[in-house]
Amino acid sequence: MSGHPDIDALVEEARSAVASARTTEDIRAVAASVTGKKSPVAEASRSLGTLDPDQRRERGRALHEARAAIEALVEERRSTITAEERASQLEADRIDLTEYIAGTTPGPAGRGRPHLVTQTRDELEDVFVGMGFEVAEGPEIETDWFNFGALNIPPPHPARGMWDTFYLDLGVPESTLLRTHTSPVQIHLMEAAVSTGGLPIHAVMPGRCYRRDTPDARHLPVFHQIEGLVVDEGITFADLAGTIEVFTTAYFGPDIHSRLRPAYFPFTEPSAEFEVTCTICHGEGCRTCSQTGWIELGGCGMVDPAVFEAVGIDTERWSGFAFGFGIDRCAQMRHQIADLRALTENDIRFLRQF
Ligand SMILES: [Zn+2]
Repeated sequence: MSGHPDIDALVEEARSAVASARTTEDIRAVAASVTGKKSPVAEASRSLGTLDPDQRRERGRALHEARAAIEALVEERRSTITAEERASQLEADRIDLTEYIAGTTPGPAGRGRPHLVTQTRDELEDVFVGMGFEVAEGPEIETDWFNFGALNIPPPHPARGMWDTFYLDLGVPESTLLRTHTSPVQIHLMEAAVSTGGLPIHAVMPGRCYRRDTPDARHLPVFHQIEGLVVDEGITFADLAGTIEVFTTAYFGPDIHSRLRPAYFPFTEPSAEFEVTCTICHGEGCRTCSQTGWIELGGCGMVDPAVFEAVGIDTERWSGFAFGFGIDRCAQMRHQIADLRALTENDIRFLRQF
C-alpha cells in the first residue's frame, strides 16, 4: 500500500515524539506536527480518496481512531508538563522564612524593624527619661473638657480656631472628639496627682493626635506629638529654657541649640515658640530655614494658673511648665525628609533607609 502508511506505525511515531516533549513550548510544537494539517495522520486522511469505497471506509475509521489516540497522548503529556512547571515555579518562589528571620538572606522582605516614627518616639523617650522624666499616655478619644475646657479654652474661645477638630457624633454635638494635641494627658496626670497626692510631676506624654488638615509636605491629619509637663515647687521660666536646651543638644547633637520666642497659647503664660538650629545648614542660613539659621520645632510656656485651678492644684505652692512638639517633625528634621507624607505611605524603599 504505497502512499498509505501503516496506521499503528503513525501512532507509535507520534507517541515517541510526544514523550520527548519537556516544556509547554515543546508540546505545542509536537502537537502541531502530529495532529496538524501537515501531520502524517492528516496526509493519510487526504489520500483516502485513492482507495476503493470499502477500503476507504475501513481505513477512514482506523485513521479517525488513530487521530483520537494521538490527541489523547498529547493532552496527557501537556497536563503532566503543566503540573511539573507549576511545581518548579513554586519551588523557585519558595521563601525560606527561617533565613529571613535570621537576617542572613537579603530578599524582598528582609528583616523587619520599627517604623521611623516609632524609632523617633523611642529615642525621644530615652532622652527625656535620661533627664528624669517619666513617660505617660492617655486616650486618643477625649471629651471637650480634657482637650479644651480644662486647658483654658472654653467655648466659644477664639483660640479653638487654632485646632481644626474631628468630632465624634455620640448624640451631644461637639462633646467628644479625637484629641487635637497631647495636652489633655497633662490634665489627666494633674487630676490623678491631686487626688492621690502624686505631685510633683515630671512627665513626657507621647502619642497620636488628629486635626482636619489637608496632608502636605509639612502637615498630616494624623500625627504624633510629645508633650512635657513639670509641676513642682519653685519652677521658673529659666528651668523651662534649660530643659529645652538640654533636650535639643541631647537629641540633635552638641552643635544644635535652642532659642525661645514669645508666642501665645491659652494654657501657658508666658508662652513661647521654641526654635532649634537649622539641621540642614547648621545655622548658616539656607532655603529650608528661610536664611534665618533657625527652625521652629514646638511650643512651650509656664502653666497658666487657670489650668492649675481647673484641676485643683494650689498655685501658691506649685508652679510648672509645659512644652510640646511633633515627633514626625523631629524625624523629618533629623533625617532631612522632604515630605512628611513619606512617613505614612509605607514605601519599603523609603522605610528601609532608617
Ligand atoms: Zn538652614
